[in-house]
Amino acid sequence: MKRVPRIKRNRKSYDGKRADNNIKYCENCNKCWEYNGNIKSLAHYEDFPTYKRKRETCIICLKRQGAHAR
Ligand SMILES: [Zn+2]
Repeated sequence: MKRVPRIKRNRKSYDGKRADNNIKYCENCNKCWEYNGNIKSLAHYEDFPTYKRKRETCIICLKRQGAHAR
């Protein structure tokens, strides 16, 4: 039996307890985002402060633009 990780933080505000080095800000959809390689999932943080975030287009926007995210 496999345990499936559940992610339910898309709409919740981020509590800031975790390291947030991997969180970037997408200027395309104006959200902070993070790709979790462990579970191959992309999370958006709507209420995350964009201050000093690295600007990088998120994977969803890249796909929408037809570019290939690697
Ligand atoms: Zn985006």
